[in-house]
Parts: sequence; structure tokens; C-alpha cells
Amino acid sequence: MEEELRAQGLRATPQRVVVMEALRALSHPDAEAVLAFAQTRHTSMSVATVYNVLEKLRRAGLVAAVDVRGRRCFDIRTESHDHVRCRQCGRLNDMDRHPATRIVAPDQESWVIDNQSVLWEGLCPTCQREVQHG
Ligand SMILES: [Zn+2]
Repeated sequence: MEEELRAQGLRATPQRVVVMEALRALSHPDAEAVLAFAQTRHTSMSVATVYNVLEKLRRAGLVAAVDVRGRRCFDIRTESHDHVRCRQCGRLNDMDRHPATRIVAPDQESWVIDNQSVLWEGLCPTCQREVQHG
């Protein structure tokens, strides 16, 4: 964690380290979830600090932002990949598409595409069980 930060020219402050740990431990947390995680590690931070740290890490290329339905979540995986979202509980997981499944945009003439991410939606295993058992 510390080495990754230093490799990007960032000092490994306790706040930055705990935010990186949160992103490792949780699947696509938003800033509030990162804050809650930091509190369990007894690292005191304000919400504003959490946002600042996440933004700094994002600009350094250590984390990616995933904007889903008005909510900004953060991802430790920074290369282009898809996500699947449970329409019932809102949980977000990674979805690895077969490399051959390339989606071609109808008009690429005026665009420079540098990222491609598809949001899949459905019911996660937990919510499927709830639906089945009422
Ligand atoms: Zn992801």
C-alpha cells in the first residue's frame, strides 16, 4: 500500500493508506463506506478529507471512479472493465467480459474512445434467494 503510494509520488499518510485498504477490502465503496471503514480502523477523518483523498488517488491513477445511477463509487481496479449491479440491494461487482465481446460504437469518427465500460443489471444471489423464499 505504502509502496504504491510512493511509486506515484504521494506520501503514505495514514489517511491515504486506510483509504487504499478500504478499497481493497470492500467492493466498490462510496465515500461514506470508506469513511465507515476508516472509523473501524480508528483513523479519524472527516467526510471532506475522504473525498479529497479519493480524488487525489484517482488523479494519481491508483483508483477509478465508477458513477452508477447518481452515486460515485470507487474501484481499486483502474483498467477498463464492466460492472454488474443488483437492482434490489444496489451492490456492485466486477464483471469480466470475454475479450472477444467488443462493443463497437456506431459513430466513432468524431470521438476518441479511451474507455469502455458496460453496466449489467440483475439480481445478486442473496436477493434471488429472498425473492424465492418470499
Ligand atoms: Zn470494478
